[in-house]
Amino acid sequence: MMPALTTTDIAQLFRELASTIAAARDELCRLDGVIGDADHGIAMEQGFTAASKAIDALPPEATLADQWNAAAKGFLNAVGASSGPLYATAFMRAAKAAGARTELPLAEAPGLIVAMAEGIQSRGKAETGEKTMVDVWAPAAANASQGTADGLRVRDIMQRVREAATQGAEATKTMVATKGRSARLGERSLGHIDPGAASASMVLAVIAADWSKRDAE
Ligand code: ADP
Ligand code: MG
Repeated sequence: MMPALTTTDIAQLFRELASTIAAARDELCRLDGVIGDADHGIAMEQGFTAASKAIDALPPEATLADQWNAAAKGFLNAVGASSGPLYATAFMRAAKAAGARTELPLAEAPGLIVAMAEGIQSRGKAETGEKTMVDVWAPAAANASQGTADGLRVRDIMQRVREAATQGAEATKTMVATKGRSARLGERSLGHIDPGAASASMVLAVIAADWSKRDAE
């Protein structure tokens, strides 16, 4: 049987995201303290906690689209920082890609990463190389679509997504920020990992681990 991703799986994924990001809160605030305003860990923790709660509050007949839209609304309402609208748009794009159904073939799951990355880029207008979360989401999405086009198994695609995300976050150290709050630091942003890129790589690592595991089942 072809593995699927169900609404139960998505609810569980968001619980995992909320707990992983909560555990990383102080680290993310520390990174943001160096080149931003030190609130990124709090924003992400509150956002993912609210997103997960919003999903868990849905009736059992809710669709995948309902879940991602509820996550978007929950995240946006909980977060005043710039990551709020960026992730809310990502989740709304995922809602559209997932559709009004209660499960999707796991082979379509990498497409949700592509949709989220597109949402972040269309909302924030950042390109790669500007030292933002796009430096993680864009290469991860590129590997997700390439792996799908090459007909790879989901767990192999997720392995590549994870590698691209880790490398993307690390690469932000060598970049000068030109978007967002840290852009005002100019050259002084060099040498430091972008907090939004760091959290994006954690988010993608959780997603990749979860979907790889479902592929192996
Ligand atoms: P704020 O800067 O409002 O305090 P956060 O601390 O939650 O917001 O998030 C900061 C992160 O947001 C940055 O590290 C960067 O990765 C990301 N970011 C900022 N502006 C943009 C943008 N225009 N496009 C994509 N990501 C962005
Ligand atoms: Mg901040």
